[in-house]
Amino acid sequence: MRKINVLPDDVANKIAAGEVVERPFNVVKELVENSLDAGATKIEIELIDGGLSLIKVVDNGLGIDEEDLPLTVQRFATSKITKYEDIFSINSFGFRGEALSAISSVSDFSIKSKGNELRVSFGNIISISPAAYTNGTIVTVKNLFEKVPARHKFLKSPTSEYKEILKYIKHIALLNYNVSFKVINNGKVALNLINDNNLLDRVKKIIGEDYSFIELNFENKVKISGVVTTPDVQKFRKDSILIGVNNRAIKDNLIQQAILQAYHRKLPENRYPIAVLNIEISPDQIDVNVHPAKLFIRFYNSNLLFKDVYKAVESCLKNYDLKNNSKGTS
Ligand code: ADP
Ligand code: MG
Repeated sequence: MRKINVLPDDVANKIAAGEVVERPFNVVKELVENSLDAGATKIEIELIDGGLSLIKVVDNGLGIDEEDLPLTVQRFATSKITKYEDIFSINSFGFRGEALSAISSVSDFSIKSKGNELRVSFGNIISISPAAYTNGTIVTVKNLFEKVPARHKFLKSPTSEYKEILKYIKHIALLNYNVSFKVINNGKVALNLINDNNLLDRVKKIIGEDYSFIELNFENKVKISGVVTTPDVQKFRKDSILIGVNNRAIKDNLIQQAILQAYHRKLPENRYPIAVLNIEISPDQIDVNVHPAKLFIRFYNSNLLFKDVYKAVESCLKNYDLKNNSKGTS
């Protein structure tokens, strides 16, 4: 038998980082979620080569005190929970205290806040030094995975990394319509959303003005709000359905199925509506801690949720039909 070694922190961090960050998209997601957790109302995302060369996220959130700055990159260090049970009543996106430690172990990383800057290069703290005072926080990630060949090999082209990021920003921007988002890629402004007062306004900006949308509001055990299209809108791909849970962008087949079932017989086969739904559910009814990247969550009562989503969409389409038919006959 070989001797058992406890891996040094930097090795453990690099291994664990693989679960949180796989691609530039994951970095952007973690940074944007941190900005939202910090109460930012304005978030700017700057990319070079789809994030492969540079990801910079600037927010106007609460910022970080000087003494906390080094803790941001320490594994399992978080300001969002203090005990395990907290994750059942959590309202923030983050709580694992892993993202910045992971990201800074696989990149040239800098975090600036309240007049100080912490720089880390592939897991090694380089410096903490005074910096220009900024209102909020600026995180810069360069050369992602450059010294991690196993990961670097699997990165896709700048264009496909960029597309994935933009798709995510649109998704999270729809679910947080009151926040301003700006995306710049290779110096060009790709998206510039000033804060909106309601979801429909943001939907029109992101998805388009030309569709006929119906607003949806449903309240039972869960609260479901959103926008869906009338059945004359027929998309070829299911990714026109965007789902959020407590304003978190998630993927969920079951909720997607519930939405599609409400359109049964209204849409031809293999055609899909556009839908943006946010489900507000008590944090003790879900488990967000299924996977470090938090792309999926688990619902304790998924049957009930399926029914509620189905009912919400179905009744909204029915009301629309009724209104339209009565208009037609009067
Ligand atoms: P988590 O979000 O799970 O707490 P992270 O590694 O993403 O873990 O961040 C660690 C800590 O750094 C956060 O708990 C928060 O206190 C602080 N932090 C990170 N990003 C920001 C930001 N943009 N604004 C303010 N604080 C931040
Ligand atoms: Mg976080």
